[in-house]
Amino acid sequence: MIAVLPRRFKRLSVEPAQRLPYGGGVAETAEVVIVGAGIMGVSTAYHLARLGVGPVVVLERDTVCSGSTALASGGIRHQYANRLGVELTTHSIVTYERFKDEFGVDPNFRQHGYLILIGSEDELAIARRSVALQRSLGVHVELLDAAATRALCPYLNTDDLLGATYTPRDGYADPYLCATAIAARARDLGVTIKQQHEVRGFVRHGDRVLGVTTAAGSYEAGATVIATGAWSGVVGRLAGVDVPVSPHRRHKFMTAPFPASRIPAATPFIIDPHTSFSLRREGPGLLLGHGRRDEPDGFSTEIDRSLEPALIERAIHRAPALADAELMRAWAGLYEMTPDQTGIVSAVPGVTALHVIAGFSGHGFMHGPIAGQLMAELLAHGHAVTMDAGPLDMGRFARGEAHVEPLTFV
Ligand SMILES: Cc1cc2nc3c(=O)[nH]c(=O)nc-3n(C[C@H](O)[C@H](O)[C@H](O)COP(=O)(O)OP(=O)(O)OC[C@H]3O[C@@H](n4cnc5c(N)ncnc54)[C@H](O)[C@@H]3O)c2cc1C
Repeated sequence: MIAVLPRRFKRLSVEPAQRLPYGGGVAETAEVVIVGAGIMGVSTAYHLARLGVGPVVVLERDTVCSGSTALASGGIRHQYANRLGVELTTHSIVTYERFKDEFGVDPNFRQHGYLILIGSEDELAIARRSVALQRSLGVHVELLDAAATRALCPYLNTDDLLGATYTPRDGYADPYLCATAIAARARDLGVTIKQQHEVRGFVRHGDRVLGVTTAAGSYEAGATVIATGAWSGVVGRLAGVDVPVSPHRRHKFMTAPFPASRIPAATPFIIDPHTSFSLRREGPGLLLGHGRRDEPDGFSTEIDRSLEPALIERAIHRAPALADAELMRAWAGLYEMTPDQTGIVSAVPGVTALHVIAGFSGHGFMHGPIAGQLMAELLAHGHAVTMDAGPLDMGRFARGEAHVEPLTFV
C-alpha cells in the first residue's frame, strides 16, 4: 500500500537567503532547487517531500531519467570491499524489495544473486577480506571454490578460476521504472519537476548560492542541490566550485533470444573482474558488459564497435555456450567517477546553501534510495540520521581521507 504522507511544507533550518535582484527579472522561489532528475535528484526530492520540506523544484535539462540511470544494468549488490558500500546497499535493498508497496510499481527486481569471479591470488585476497567484512555486517555471502562455482552455474568455464563470491539476496531491477516511479511519488507529495529546464548558471552572493538560472527564468532557493551525475563537474564549474566527478564511458551489449535451457533465466548477475566482462539475463536474451579500464574521460556515448571482438572472445571463453549467441544491439552510457570511486552526499565546503549528490562511480542506481534519503536528512536536519554520511563528505578529498573502493568494475 502507498503510504499517506504529510502535505504541509516545512522550511529548512537555514537562515533566509538575502534576496537579490536577478538579471532575468523576478525569480520563482523554492525551499530547495535540485538540478538533475536522475535517480539521485528524484530520490532526494521524494525524501525531502516525505520529511515535509518544500516547496521543492527539480530542474531537468531533458526529461526525467534521461541520463545514466536509464542506461544502467540495474545491478544491486552487497559485494563491496569497504564498509560504506555494503551499508549503502543494506539500506537501499529494502526499498527495492518493498518498492511496489511504496511506489505502486513493480520494479522487476530479480533476486537471482550476484557472482563475482576470482581469477587471481590478488583477487582471492580481496575476496577473503571482503567476505569477512560483509559477514560482519550481516550479509549472507559465500566464498565458493571453482567446483562450487561450476555447480552453481554449470555453463561457466571455471578452468582458470580460483572460485567466486556469491550473494544470493542480490540481483537487478529496472532503473527506468524505478526512477520514474520515484519521480511520480515525489510529484504526488507536492514536488514540482520541470523538464526541458537546463540550469545555465548559479546566482552567488559572496560565499552563498542563492539559486540558479535557466533560459526560462531564475529560481531562488534556500538550498540548491547538484544532482547531475556525470555532468556534475561541469555544473559545479557553473557555480564556481570544483566537484571531482568525471565521465567514463561504459558499454552494454544485448544478445538475441538465447535458450534458457543453456543459460537459465534465474542465473546470477555475473562479474568477471579479471577480463572486465559481465553477464546477466535480460528477458529472452542476455545482457553482456565489457569495460575498458584505459577509456579516456569524456562525454561521448558513441558505441565503440572495436570492443566487440574482445567482448565475444571473453564471452565465449567464460560461457562457451555463447558461441551460439548473436549480438543484437549495444549502447554506451556514462559512469560518474570520483577519485576514490565512492559517491558524494554533502554540503560543498566553503560555500553556503550548495550541496552535491553525485559521483557514485557506477553504483548509483543501487545506492540511489539511501543516498537521496541522506541528502534530504542533511538538508532538513543539518546532519544525516539513518546512517553515518561522513564517508560521503566532499571535504574528504582535500583532507586526504578518501579510501578507494576496489570492487568497482569499469
Ligand atoms: C552502462 C551502465 C551500467 C550501469 N550499471 C549499473 C548497475 O548495474 N548498478 C548501479 O547501481 N549503477 C549502475 N550504473 C551507474 C548508474 O547509472 C549511475 O550511478 C546513476 O544512474 C547516477 O544517477 P544520477 O542521478 O547521479 O545521474 P543521471 O541519471 O545521469 O542523472 C543526471 C541528470 O542530470 C541532468 N542534467 C545534467 N546537466 C544538467 C543541467 N545543466 N541542468 C539540468 N539538468 C542537467 C541530466 O540530463 C540527467 O538527467 C551504470 C551506468 C552505466 C552507464
